[in-house]
Amino acid sequence: MGIIEKMRLDGKKIFVTGGARGIGKSVATAFCEAGADVAIVDLDFEEAEKTAAELEKNHGIQAIAIKADVTNPEDVDSMITKILSAFGRLDVAFCNAGICMNIPAEDMTYEQWKKVIDINLTGVFLTAQAAGKVMLKQGGGSIINTASMSAHIVNVPQPQCSYNASKAGVIQLTKSLAVEWATRNVRVNCISPGYIGTELTLNSPSLQPLIEQWNQMAPLGRMGRPEELQSICVYLAGDTSSFTTGADFVVDGAFTCI
Ligand code: NAD
Repeated sequence: MGIIEKMRLDGKKIFVTGGARGIGKSVATAFCEAGADVAIVDLDFEEAEKTAAELEKNHGIQAIAIKADVTNPEDVDSMITKILSAFGRLDVAFCNAGICMNIPAEDMTYEQWKKVIDINLTGVFLTAQAAGKVMLKQGGGSIINTASMSAHIVNVPQPQCSYNASKAGVIQLTKSLAVEWATRNVRVNCISPGYIGTELTLNSPSLQPLIEQWNQMAPLGRMGRPEELQSICVYLAGDTSSFTTGADFVVDGAFTCI
């Protein structure tokens, strides 16, 4: 079997949090193109249902929509129950849901700080832990978390200390889980995207004026597209990445090099 065939995900069962739109939707699409069945997990159930229906129609795989808040342990438990009752197993988890708030540190309330940390860091812990429990029992699996280049640099000019701290936490959480579960065949990696054109960036009125500035700073002179994160995630989800665990993949058009 050639390398491209070996990278296919036929029959694998995958959940994607924040899968209704943006990076999650794009990566879920790639998983389906590679043959996997997916659960689209999102707070926005209406959009998740639309995405799941589109994936089923276009790719002839099974896609289900699940409403869950990744910060709520009961939602995460019931997400796992629904996935196991629909698919019978879980091979890959893409723990990707996240938000950003741009607020100067000195003005940030406790609630604002906590919301970002809860979704971006605790949400990844809860969903990766829930996936890990199933995978450890099954004898293996692959978990992919979404960090950010903001885990490596301090973005300017927007003030986003809670986001940067949450994403740095995701990288160290990823490495910790990878080490704890390495001998039990559960691999844990993360991706650190640079600026990617999604609702999070393109549709935020406060960020709109900054896009030209970011593009001028970027060695490639532009933002990334969600589909430019697809192949790394397909690689991490599949069996050809069997020696890859505890790694962080920076996909940022060299933004963090300067
Ligand atoms: P997006 O806003 O387009 O999509 C995020 C999705 O997550 C939405 O569908 C939203 O409903 C869902 N979501 C939010 N909170 C949730 C919760 N508590 N429970 C379940 N679902 C929830 O964002 P995106 O740009 O696709 O970002 C996806 C991930 O990539 C995030 O973790 C983000 O921090 C990260 N990231 C984005 C960029 C970028 O430039 N867009 C760069 C680096 C990292």
